[in-house]
Amino acid sequence: MLGIESTAHTFGVGIVSSKPFKILADTRKTYRPKEGGILPREVASFFSSIASDAIKEALQETGLKINEIDAFAVALGPGMGPALRIGATVARTLSIYYKKPLIPVNHAVAHIEIARTLTGLKDPLILYISGGNTTVTSFLEGRYRVFGETQDMALGNLLDTFAREAGIAPPYVINGNHAVDICAEEGGFLERTLPYTVKGQDVSFSGLLTAALRSLKKGHKLSDICFTLREIAFSAVVEVAERGLVHTEKRSITVAGGVAANDLLRKKMETMAGDHEIIYKPVPKRFAGDNGVMIALVGLMSLYKGISINIEKSFVRQRWRLDEVEIPWYPKTPQDL
Ligand code: AMP
Ligand code: MG
Repeated sequence: MLGIESTAHTFGVGIVSSKPFKILADTRKTYRPKEGGILPREVASFFSSIASDAIKEALQETGLKINEIDAFAVALGPGMGPALRIGATVARTLSIYYKKPLIPVNHAVAHIEIARTLTGLKDPLILYISGGNTTVTSFLEGRYRVFGETQDMALGNLLDTFAREAGIAPPYVINGNHAVDICAEEGGFLERTLPYTVKGQDVSFSGLLTAALRSLKKGHKLSDICFTLREIAFSAVVEVAERGLVHTEKRSITVAGGVAANDLLRKKMETMAGDHEIIYKPVPKRFAGDNGVMIALVGLMSLYKGISINIEKSFVRQRWRLDEVEIPWYPKTPQDL
């Protein structure tokens, strides 16, 4: 199975096999703006310039020829329209030309399933945090149900936007550490703290961002603002995850998505899980961020359940929600094939 990821900043091509499940190739080409944020049209033009090289490189890594691929999986959403359309166009073309099935994959499901596969946790509560998503979720009656989410911006977007506005990014992540983490190293709690907003099971970060930027304008120490912002944002999602855990009575927990690579967040989750005496295993850092392997992996599980899509129906869906997707293979993971 060859999987293509192109929902946001990374064009990823992953190739996996079943029986036994193996990751054969993992090629990633990431768009990195020199200044400012990610502009969808620029990402799309970058993706179209490197897509064929990425596929060639992935195939070379496996030693396979393209006609030895049995099916093509693609992330059709959620994500940025122009970026999604590049991956979708490439996958449709390969599927038609080589007469192999096209498998639609939801990007959020892929982040969750790679975490489940690589941690070996069969039925965990999942905290999924990335540039575009902040969700506490767990499987119940056929689907991943949402037990809490952000009402406005995602946690990754909060960190990235603050770092950009404060002039400490891009690059947003240096050697696996976020610019906000690096800045927070010398910091402590602000004397007047920033707003902590948990509403029922949901979180909200836009007020926190506004207050942090206001604090910066007032001349407070940047490292203290970074420290406080990070502490509040992570504590809020861990609190919501903790309540989700008590509510669902799951006995294990994982964290997935780009922000799951964060050391402090991983530590806070570990402490919380310890308090509840449940198993905690975060996704391996290498597979926290966007990649093609997770798309190929869900493609494999989908094909095994007979799921594929007609080209005419393979639209991209920018707001495709996690809880709209049926998960008929649950609790199996590719290792069970
Ligand atoms: P994804 O779209 O899943 O690849 O996630 C991307 C998001 O993860 C971006 O907002 C990044 O800034 C964020 N991110 C990546 N590495 C880290 C890290 N070590 N700590 C915090 N955020 C991170
Ligand atoms: Mg992602």
